[in-house]
Amino acid sequence: MKGSVLIIGAGPAGMRASTELLNQGFKVILVEEKPTIGGKMAQIDKMFPTNECSTCTILPRMLELTNNPNMTIVAFAEIESIEGKAGDFKVKVIKKPRYVDPMKCTACTDCFPVCPVGDIPMEFNFGRGVSKAISFYSPFPPRKALINPEVCTYILEGKCGDKEIPPCVEACEPEAIVFDQKPVEAEFNVGAVILATGLDEMKTEALEEYGYGKFSNILTALEYERLLSGLGPTGGIIKRGDKKEPQAIAWYVLNNPSAIGFMTAVAEAMGTIERNPDASISVFYENLNLNREDYNDFYSKAKESKIKFIKADCISVAEGKDGNVDISYDKESFKAEMLVLVPPYAPNKSTLKLAEKIGLELDQWGFFGKKTAGFHPIHTSKEGIFVCGSAQEPRGIDDAIIQACSAASYAAALLGSSRGKEIVAPPKKDILPVNPEDEPAILAIICRCGINIAGLLDMDELIEYTKSLPHVKHVELTPFGCDGVKIRELLKTKDFNRLVLGACSPKTHEDLFFLHTEMGGLNPYLMEIVNLRNHCTWVHSKFQGRNSKAKWKGEYRYWFYCCCNRY
Ligand SMILES: Cc1cc2nc3c(=O)[nH]c(=O)nc-3n(C[C@H](O)[C@H](O)[C@H](O)COP(=O)(O)OP(=O)(O)OC[C@H]3O[C@@H](n4cnc5c(N)ncnc54)[C@H](O)[C@@H]3O)c2cc1C
Ligand code: SF4
Ligand code: SF4
Repeated sequence: MKGSVLIIGAGPAGMRASTELLNQGFKVILVEEKPTIGGKMAQIDKMFPTNECSTCTILPRMLELTNNPNMTIVAFAEIESIEGKAGDFKVKVIKKPRYVDPMKCTACTDCFPVCPVGDIPMEFNFGRGVSKAISFYSPFPPRKALINPEVCTYILEGKCGDKEIPPCVEACEPEAIVFDQKPVEAEFNVGAVILATGLDEMKTEALEEYGYGKFSNILTALEYERLLSGLGPTGGIIKRGDKKEPQAIAWYVLNNPSAIGFMTAVAEAMGTIERNPDASISVFYENLNLNREDYNDFYSKAKESKIKFIKADCISVAEGKDGNVDISYDKESFKAEMLVLVPPYAPNKSTLKLAEKIGLELDQWGFFGKKTAGFHPIHTSKEGIFVCGSAQEPRGIDDAIIQACSAASYAAALLGSSRGKEIVAPPKKDILPVNPEDEPAILAIICRCGINIAGLLDMDELIEYTKSLPHVKHVELTPFGCDGVKIRELLKTKDFNRLVLGACSPKTHEDLFFLHTEMGGLNPYLMEIVNLRNHCTWVHSKFQGRNSKAKWKGEYRYWFYCCCNRY
């Protein structure tokens, strides 16, 4: 009986199952077909029904996993075969070539500016935003460069411009670039397997009927999420291809048996109104299917805003003037500057191939549904192979995570006798020794949080004020504190023995900031958070409007003062 589990798919379900198993003393191998982890949750902006930031919620989990010595993440890989039986499976995995050795790549980005092949549309953003032929796939881990073989001139023609030695190779000090990399087969011997391959938008011909792929400024909900995201191609500003910021946007939720389609439209419409309270927003839907009280509450809140919800069995779409979209429904019409389609969901493309390799039956929609599981919510017809999350049927993130915990428990119960057999002890942490009598040396990091903080506070004034506080040695402004880059980089200098963060709520972010602080080498309990976002900017923008920055000075000054004087 092996003490390890292989999980297929690194979305929220696969990641949560990994964390649960690691905490229970099992070794985990997480196989993901994309070059980075996170699944759909890494691509969406804010989550219904809580309106929390998806990136901020998933990042701590990603960092936990990437820093755990008992975790092996095999990204950009495909399952070749699964053989054996419960307790003793042999899983063959093919790692696709990245043309960069991930063990050597330090993510320094020195190779990006020198690459002459640019303007490559980014797959992670569905063609929006551009990268070089060598780039990161997304802002998420594993943060390692990769080369796109379809556009790299050295791979295509044996020469990069007129140079025999490609500029990326010259720029890469750790010598990480390997042009002769081939697909590599790896075999893992594990006790159980969990399928967490998730869902995707069903982009069938039905979407063409609504102008998708024919007219500009018609996109799907997942594509729109990338525009909403602060880490997306427009930095969270809703822009069309012609750079115009649309003022009239419509959503059309196609007939969707799952509630998450309609809820996605509600969340995206609310995110849009938050950014542009004057926008004209309409959500057309065929059916609601809201089967949860918290979904209904979220929808009720949206109905209190200016968003118009219109039940329409069908809409028709025509190309309007200047890239606009003319929508007709019943006997009415709406002139939209952008249309977002919310299609039904399908399993991920590779699901059928994977099911054939394992010998599992899929349901009529192509999911590892009830048929696969013999009507059990977690089991499959193969003992020792479990399924969870949207691989089984489209479901919300919270439901996917509950199932992931369940799948992890079943796997742990099966392998109970081998618990702890294959794991190694975590390495000792390098933490700066701090004594109570040491003079405090405060590092203050202030997060812009996209537009959430910087759009509403006078940042220059805040920085100057913070610099004037006792013991503050350095003040740093960062676009998104939750990525932890500045926190870790500055703490690693060992010049600071306290950290004050001007950011968002400890309720959602404390765990993440603890983790970054510890990774920077400081005792996490020497970190304080000033809740600039939820306690200051969000509250005041609601009650006083967005343009009254000066009025709030007293409040954030008070909080920063309290935090810095605590020492
Ligand atoms: C536009 C949109 C917005 C949404 N918004 C919300 C929201 O606000 N709140 C909410 O609760 N839910 C939301 N959802 C639903 C949410 O995305 C899913 O509930 C959630 O992603 C399910 O997690 P998962 O891990 O099961 O699947 P996924 O997130 O789909 O992850 C599956 C992972 O498996 C990988 N994979 C697939 N096949 C293979 C294979 N053969 N080999 C290796 N790897 C594979 C995929 O690349 C992916 O990384 C939204 C969905 C969409 C499309
Ligand atoms: S220069 Fe080398 S180490 Fe730096 S990002 Fe590029 S491939 Fe990685
Ligand atoms: S070989 Fe040239 S085109 Fe290819 S990644 Fe390197 S610099 Fe870019």
